[in-house]
Amino acid sequence: LASRLPQVGTTIFTVMSALASEHGAVNLGQGFPDFGCDPALLDAVDAAMRAGHNQYPPMTGVPALRQAVADKVEKLYGRRYDANTEVTVTAGATQAILTAILAVVHPGDEVIVLEPCYDSYVPNIELAGGRVVRVPLTPGSFRPDFDKIAAAITPRTRALLINSPHNPSGMCWTEAEMRALDALLAPTDVLLISDEVYEHMVFDGLPHQSAARYPGLAARAFIVSSFGKTYHVTGWKVGTVVAPAPLMAEFRKVHQFNVFTVNTPMQHALAAYMANPAPYLDLPAFYQRKRDLFREGLAATRFRLLPGEGTYFQCVDISALAVPERDLPEADFCRWLTQEIGVAAIPLSAFYGDGFDQKVVRFCFAKKDETLVEALKRLSRL
Ligand code: PMP
Ligand code: GLN
Repeated sequence: LASRLPQVGTTIFTVMSALASEHGAVNLGQGFPDFGCDPALLDAVDAAMRAGHNQYPPMTGVPALRQAVADKVEKLYGRRYDANTEVTVTAGATQAILTAILAVVHPGDEVIVLEPCYDSYVPNIELAGGRVVRVPLTPGSFRPDFDKIAAAITPRTRALLINSPHNPSGMCWTEAEMRALDALLAPTDVLLISDEVYEHMVFDGLPHQSAARYPGLAARAFIVSSFGKTYHVTGWKVGTVVAPAPLMAEFRKVHQFNVFTVNTPMQHALAAYMANPAPYLDLPAFYQRKRDLFREGLAATRFRLLPGEGTYFQCVDISALAVPERDLPEADFCRWLTQEIGVAAIPLSAFYGDGFDQKVVRFCFAKKDETLVEALKRLSRL
């Protein structure tokens, strides 16, 4: 069979979670919480199902949820999106990103990704027949390098994908960087796909720099978010995309033949739950405390901490560990760490097309404190 994606195997997240469960390891690999969501959210699902919200919803999403999202974006980022024409509910951010790409990328179009990047972007572009143009983030800091981005833009560039807060590094774009991007794209027709699934996990009082805050960027952007991250329900697979009406019209043409609709009771539950903004407003403090607990524990080990401004991931350099396995390729090190030390992690090389190996691995700290403490105990042996 002539594969559409010959390079692609099973995702690293699936592989590492399977290995962690096979070896009874503490799973700090794949990004998901090991604690439950707010019981009030579960009650809202139950109420929605019992109220009879169990058939197809509108293709674009339940109106109350689209309105709640539009209201939130306006309140937090100051841009008004029309809930009817500019907001769509998706089956997670994953579908939103794929659908946006399929909607606008023509065969042969160039699409720029900033590496390291989330593992679905490149195969998504390839499925659309696009040409992937990889631009590295600055090594070490993972900050955008505007000279390199500018050099990558050509008349064939159709879109640029950005992700802030950034998986895997936790780097968050600054206002100055967003303005620099705005200025860079202003004379072009390049579209922006802004993956903001960790929008509510930005620490140390920093604001989230949504593309929605910048009119020049928002006018060309699909902005993607995910309830899975925000409400500790990654398995629900409900996300959203907002975009100006002409872009959204194209998005919906693909969406209706891709998933058509997204499950109904979850949408009603999320809409009801969003009436109380406390859960997402409390999220930075909630995860900052976990980040600090995890970083303080790691600071006492030979793992060298990289910055952690946002997301629920912490990257560490392994090159100063006291064990010879520190010299293994990152992916082999992560397998060894899972099997022998009992802690699963994700190699950063999985986020690069060429498997670039910089002796850095990613841990997820969206875990109960006791899980983090147990992981730290095991890691402190190295
Ligand atoms: N983008 C990034 C950067 C992510 O980390 C994730 C979650 N792993 C996704 C998209 C996908 O989100 P969802 O689970 O809502 O599809
Ligand atoms: N986004 C999550 C991570 O980066 C995992 C999602 C997945 O398994 N595809 O760990």
